Amino acid sequence: MEKFVLSIDQGTTSTRAILFDKKGISRFIAQRELELIYPQSGWVEEDALEVYSSVVDVINEVLIKANIDANAIDSIGITNQRETTVVWDKETGLPVANAIVWQSRQSQEICDALKDKEEFIHHKTGLIINPYFSASKIRFILDKNDLQKVAEEGKLLFGTIDTWIIYKLTKGKVHATDITNASRTLLYNIFEKKWDDELLKLFNIPKCMLPTVHECSYHYGDAILMLGTVSIPIMGVAGDQQASLFGQTCFSKGDVKNTYGTGCFMLMNTGKEARLSKNGLLTTIAWSINNQVTYALEGSVFIAGASIQWLRDQMKMINKASDSEISARKVDSSNGVYVVPAFVGLGTPYWDDYARGAVFGLTRATNKYHFIRATLEAIAYQSMDLLQTIKKDAHTKINSLSVDGGATANNYLMQFQADILEMPINLPKCLETTALGVAYFAGLKTGFFASLKEIKKSHCIENTFYPSMPQSEVKERYRKWKLAIKATRVFE
Ligand code: ADP
Repeated sequence: MEKFVLSIDQGTTSTRAILFDKKGISRFIAQRELELIYPQSGWVEEDALEVYSSVVDVINEVLIKANIDANAIDSIGITNQRETTVVWDKETGLPVANAIVWQSRQSQEICDALKDKEEFIHHKTGLIINPYFSASKIRFILDKNDLQKVAEEGKLLFGTIDTWIIYKLTKGKVHATDITNASRTLLYNIFEKKWDDELLKLFNIPKCMLPTVHECSYHYGDAILMLGTVSIPIMGVAGDQQASLFGQTCFSKGDVKNTYGTGCFMLMNTGKEARLSKNGLLTTIAWSINNQVTYALEGSVFIAGASIQWLRDQMKMINKASDSEISARKVDSSNGVYVVPAFVGLGTPYWDDYARGAVFGLTRATNKYHFIRATLEAIAYQSMDLLQTIKKDAHTKINSLSVDGGATANNYLMQFQADILEMPINLPKCLETTALGVAYFAGLKTGFFASLKEIKKSHCIENTFYPSMPQSEVKERYRKWKLAIKATRVFE
């Protein structure tokens, strides 16, 4: 009987289950969309029970599609939207409030009050003080629902989405997380590799709420499926961006990947060493396997593919995302136009919450095709900012850049990206790198995948884009981009 690893990829707007075969090929897939809840401007929440139901649904659906029973599943891997916070009642297993999604800003005030502790926190967690991470979200839930005392009595549990899914799939037997998810909470000391008592005190969060932390490849427990008739071991867990770094087989120090989705997330493997950034990058745990932690530097762009959705939905310049490439190719340059899509501020390396979007270089000759082309180019320039920052901090030679995510379907963007970075970029054959990464973590533990070396061998590149722009042009364009950013930030 052919066997598979079942990956659960729990994202912000959808949940997917994918069956991978021994060659790491994605063979069957099931997906459910999820509804986001916006109680107030800037707040983003989800119903954690709906999230869990979607997980059960996609598992059942993918097994039906593959026409197999659960015995054909070697193991389960779980990857998830990071930082999103759930607090639930230990007794009933029910959430005490909606899950607070990573992008949500409702705990901004809690973070502002701790701004003077930035250095202290950075030196323990590699992160910055920001509502993005889980700690202030837990604080918010306990405050808003008057639950501090109940939490101190040991009656509540906290988890990021991985923990929540593991807890529910094991029928409440296992309260655990993996080290990559733990490293995004603002409560985990990435150097000492443990929950940090001083940070817990700072946020006044009782330790008894926290899950046990394990490596990415580990037997977390058994998922009880099909109304209790089967159990399948959960063997791999990692946050989505880390899973994608692993799925891209960025196993060596100096390997970099960039994911082009709603935003962009660039991670560089920095090996056994945790490097603190002086330039606005986050230091995070890439993974831990065989008792060895690998670290990464991470940079993020808030608006990348989302700017293409904006062209479609707000500006009505295109009907669908893929039209952006057709439009960009209708002209032979962006005609000096620069679009800075700082719709929600700017991420790495600027971390400017207050900047807003701007357009530069308009003339009487500018048409919508120039505008669309310039919007695509802005995705590449922002990614260039990430790579430049990584280069400054890492003091490591960059070996390669692997790419994935929805916007990599755009060949114009990919070619321009290679041009402006002056380096080749590799698009893998399997674009489901996040789910694949966690399938690897699970399968390495069970022997389904033999070794990192074997995985590396089976990893296929679909396409490589080689740079072809003259260096002088690259320099001039990037100089203009930096000027555009500077001018945008003056207008606050
Ligand atoms: P996420 O996981 O963040 O939801 P995806 O990886 O699914 O994102 O990618 C979706 C994003 O990619 C959307 O923002 C969309 O605008 C963008 N996108 C999809 N296809 C194209 C394309 N051909 N050209 C440019 N952008 C695209």
